[in-house]
Amino acid sequence: MNPGMQGVVEVICGCMFSGKTEELIRRAKEAHYAQKKVLLFKPLLDNRYSKHEIVSHNGLSIKAHVIKSADELLKNVPAEVDVIGIDEVQFFDDDVILAVSRLADAGHRIVVAGLDQDFRGEPFGPMPKLLALAEHVTKLHAICTVCGEPATRTQRLIDGEAAFYDDPVILVGAADSYEARCRNHHEVPVRSMKEHLS
Ligand SMILES: [Zn+2]
Repeated sequence: MNPGMQGVVEVICGCMFSGKTEELIRRAKEAHYAQKKVLLFKPLLDNRYSKHEIVSHNGLSIKAHVIKSADELLKNVPAEVDVIGIDEVQFFDDDVILAVSRLADAGHRIVVAGLDQDFRGEPFGPMPKLLALAEHVTKLHAICTVCGEPATRTQRLIDGEAAFYDDPVILVGAADSYEARCRNHHEVPVRSMKEHLS
C-alpha cells in the first residue's frame, strides 16, 4: 500500500451466473500484473469447488484465504497489502460492513463480490449497506433462462418447481437447482396460496 493513498470500496453484485466471481478474479489478476500486493478471502461455508481457491462458474480460479468471520479479515491484512478481494460477501454478517470501511479508511482498495438479492428477490444480508457505502458499484446481469432477456434475479428450484417463499435459504447451491431469471419470470410462491390451489 502506498502511504497517503486513498482507500476505496468497489462492489460487484448481481444474481447467480452473472459473472461476479469472474469479474473479481479479473480485477485481482489485473492488480497483480500491475505489481500490487493482492489478498483474497472467501467465507468458510463456500466450499463448492475448492477450499483454498475462488473458482468462477466458467472455471477461472485464484488462491484465497478462507475465513469464518469479518473479524478475521481485520486480523489477516498486513499494512503493505494494496488490494483486498472478498468473494460471496453476502454470507458474512453485518460486521463485514465495519471491517470493509476500516480497511478502506486505512488506504486499502477493497473489492467485494456478492449476491445482491436472495432467492426471494429480497436484499441479501450486508449487501444493501455495502452498496450504499461503496465508491464504485458494478451490477452484472445474467440471461433469463425462460426468455433470454437480461436477468437480475436468482430462481430457486426444488425438484424442478419454484421454491416457496418460506423455504429456508440454502446458503450455497448446486447449479442445477438455481437459474437466472428476469423480473417477469422470477417466481416465489407463497405456501398457503399454492396449497390452496392443489
Ligand atoms: Zn425472462
